[in-house]
Amino acid sequence: MPTFEEARKIILDNVKPLGTERVELLEATGRVLAEDITAPWDMPLWDNTAMDGYAVRSEDCGSPTVLKLAGFLPAGGSMTEALQPGTVVKILTGAPIPPGADAVVQVEETEESDGMVSIRIPVRKKDHIRFKGEDVKTGEIILPAGTVIRPSEISMMASFGKVFVPVYPKVRVAVLSTGDELVEPGEALAPGKIINSNSFALAASVRAAGGIPIMLGIARDNPDSLREKLTEGLKADVLITSAGVSAGDRDYVRDILDELGLQQLFWKVDIKPGRPTAFGLHGAMPVFSLPGNPVSSLLTFEEFVRPALLKMMGHQRVLRPLVTATLKEGIRKKPGRVNFLRVAVENDNGRFLAWSPGKQDTGYLKTLLLADGIAVIQAERGDLAAGEQVEVHLLDDNTALMEA
Ligand code: AMP
Ligand code: MG
Repeated sequence: MPTFEEARKIILDNVKPLGTERVELLEATGRVLAEDITAPWDMPLWDNTAMDGYAVRSEDCGSPTVLKLAGFLPAGGSMTEALQPGTVVKILTGAPIPPGADAVVQVEETEESDGMVSIRIPVRKKDHIRFKGEDVKTGEIILPAGTVIRPSEISMMASFGKVFVPVYPKVRVAVLSTGDELVEPGEALAPGKIINSNSFALAASVRAAGGIPIMLGIARDNPDSLREKLTEGLKADVLITSAGVSAGDRDYVRDILDELGLQQLFWKVDIKPGRPTAFGLHGAMPVFSLPGNPVSSLLTFEEFVRPALLKMMGHQRVLRPLVTATLKEGIRKKPGRVNFLRVAVENDNGRFLAWSPGKQDTGYLKTLLLADGIAVIQAERGDLAAGEQVEVHLLDDNTALMEA
């Protein structure tokens, strides 16, 4: 049985990006760039003004100075004739600097009347001019392959006229729940039945990671039902099943996947919770079998499936931010296996404090809702006392924690 680290290494060593595609610029948001993007031209394209004011020849300016207004250049305008000595041109932010001018005086430092402009301050060459190529030079790599595309990357590509962008595709992930006890939300509950929440939890996790979930519904605990649904699932890019692989089960999931040609890489991991977590390959397609318990399936998705999906979508950073936190209260743990503890975390002037926000038994989903992270406790450690340090993978958008 692999350890936590070994299992994650086996998974990450066996998944890779699916290829690349070109998508419309806005569709690239949140995706990973598949090729370097180089600048087709200088940015800015020409010298322009950073301020509303007057373009001047700095040599004409003493302090104070009165010069003749010779024209107006709004944004979008341009001027070919040179600025004559003793004159200025009114100019608005972004407009090209007229030939002959070598500085801009901001409007707040001037007064205009009767076609004359008086300047109250000394003027130096280059004042308030943004120069051609100052931001980006032609041919420069503006975004290397592997960049995660955020609004600022979209802005950069849009400003260089990019209409289509080479990115890694979103992975299509089939999600299958198994169990005779399951009914779908909205269906009538009967004694012994429970609602299939895992399909929704796992599909939501896929979507949050940037993938496309495909809901396969429920397979019953019999070979025919499983064969039909698993065959369907093997048409996606990744297959995730939930339940039906723990010791007490009839192990049909494993048998049928075997029959369908799965190469099994492991069927258990030495962790708690989540021991019945399995991974294999169908050709090059990754197949994850996660535990049925809703808390265990979400924790094992976080620690094993999410990093794999991110790697397949071209991400170079596939693990959550890891912080060291000090325990505010003790937490019980038996030595022997790596434990995933659901912990709340607060930032106390740059020092992270962690505590258990509820019972750690996997029967308590609420504890996961209240958690900010997963503390990964090494196998050999026993009961944890207040003041001890633990490593925590921060979940979701925890920027508030990082900033506090
Ligand atoms: P199993 O892995 O089949 O032993 O299931 C472990 C526990 O998870 C049992 O209490 C199941 O009822 C529960 N469970 C299994 N599948 C689901 C599901 N799709 N949604 C919610 N709970 C589930
Ligand atoms: Mg079951």
